[in-house]
Amino acid sequence: MKVLPPLYVDGLEVPGLYLFEGAKTCFLLNRESGTGMMLDRELAEQMEAGVPSGELLGKLVSRGMTNAGPAAACDRGVRPDFFLIDMTQACNFACCYCLRNPESEGKRISSEMLEHILDKMIAYCKAHGVTHISIQPWGGEPLLELDKVLYIREKMNRDAPWLDVNISIETNGSRITADAAKRLRDANIGIGVSIDGPREIHDSQRRDVGDHATFDQVMEGIQRLRENGVKHIGSISVITKPGLEHIDEILDFFAEELPDLSVKINPMHSPGRREALSLAVGAEDISVLVEKTAGKLKKLWLQGRKVKEGNFTSALQNLLARSDANICKSHGCMGGRRMLIFDQNGDMFPCEIVDYPSEKLGNAEDGVDIMDSVQTGIGKKEYFKEKHKAECDCCPWWYYCQGGCTSAILYERGCVEGVDECGCASAKALYEQAIRLITDAPELAAEMAGIRQYAGLTVEPGAARKGKQ
Ligand code: SF4
Ligand code: SF4
Repeated sequence: MKVLPPLYVDGLEVPGLYLFEGAKTCFLLNRESGTGMMLDRELAEQMEAGVPSGELLGKLVSRGMTNAGPAAACDRGVRPDFFLIDMTQACNFACCYCLRNPESEGKRISSEMLEHILDKMIAYCKAHGVTHISIQPWGGEPLLELDKVLYIREKMNRDAPWLDVNISIETNGSRITADAAKRLRDANIGIGVSIDGPREIHDSQRRDVGDHATFDQVMEGIQRLRENGVKHIGSISVITKPGLEHIDEILDFFAEELPDLSVKINPMHSPGRREALSLAVGAEDISVLVEKTAGKLKKLWLQGRKVKEGNFTSALQNLLARSDANICKSHGCMGGRRMLIFDQNGDMFPCEIVDYPSEKLGNAEDGVDIMDSVQTGIGKKEYFKEKHKAECDCCPWWYYCQGGCTSAILYERGCVEGVDECGCASAKALYEQAIRLITDAPELAAEMAGIRQYAGLTVEPGAARKGKQ
């Protein structure tokens, strides 16, 4: 990696440019705007010398590489469009790393409160011209509240037909009967199923409240979703410290048994259940996890086994197209600014794992516009304090990371100071691996990111396997 001298375009100084060289191509990154582009060696030499030709300057401008003025550098405005609703604390599983310590008979949201929450969202969308939102009914196990989950679709269709509403749930997969699968399909609800890999690994981490193994129930649930025509099934897989030894096995399992599912590999962070803290993946383990995952994914794709892993795909998409799609990992933590959670009392928080009373932003029944509540909170709440350490000032991944996960810092230190060290390690490892793939195997990187056209590169499906990398 080379730090380039500032570039001068139309009297504007463009600092923060980094150049990465690989076996096949070079990649230029602007750390302030998060924009990047591939360069061949000749153009990379022009950049290193600080004398880009007129043609190269034109390309830099058209890719947004020089657009580093304060306004364009960091649009972290308030535009909530992703809402979580806490439906229930009840769960029939007792996974070793669960943050919530759920109870089999936990508290559930009332129909009246759900109505108030949805009305508040609709009023906000109307007032601010928002035409697309995502809602995630959350738990505990959200399928224990299936009727209320389906009611969200019914209510939005009836009361806000002008609003495009994407609804998705993350489920433990044990409650997916054929009838539930049909109803979820008919309501067009996206499903993410938690499964931690092959039987032995899954069953060691995800037991039910009676301490029984759950692998078979979950696989049967996924099969019912498939049989009943549910599209876009995803999965979430939590890796614990012992699981670091089994990354290849876990990804092979997804490639062989669940090739139609995307997967998101999430390292277990503390605090989970106290007795399971030794299972947490620490900052020191993250680079091993990311390196093994990226290496295995590359091998699988080159064999034509296209396992889509959410975190790695997001990093590639951010670098190649500044996608900003991942609320936690595309443009720093966007809790509060893009994501909001309503709990069962209708209280509104910036993130599902920050439910400290002091961080409450408002309530479903307070009559205050959502935008006003968040903007007031940004000036007052600990959650919205800037995260930073000296190293961030010269870090190429600044745009994407911005100090990592605010909740992790709050949990660890009780206040927002410094950065999330696990998030820092994760951003460094993830983006270093993504850049390596882009510069060594650009067509494969674009294919894995789902990008067909990239800066003059046309990616044919499977091209990367035909000896082109
Ligand atoms: S927290 Fe770490 S990865 Fe993130 S911007 Fe700062 S130095 Fe970079
Ligand atoms: S606090 Fe952490 S989990 Fe919550 S939105 Fe921010 S980055 Fe994501």
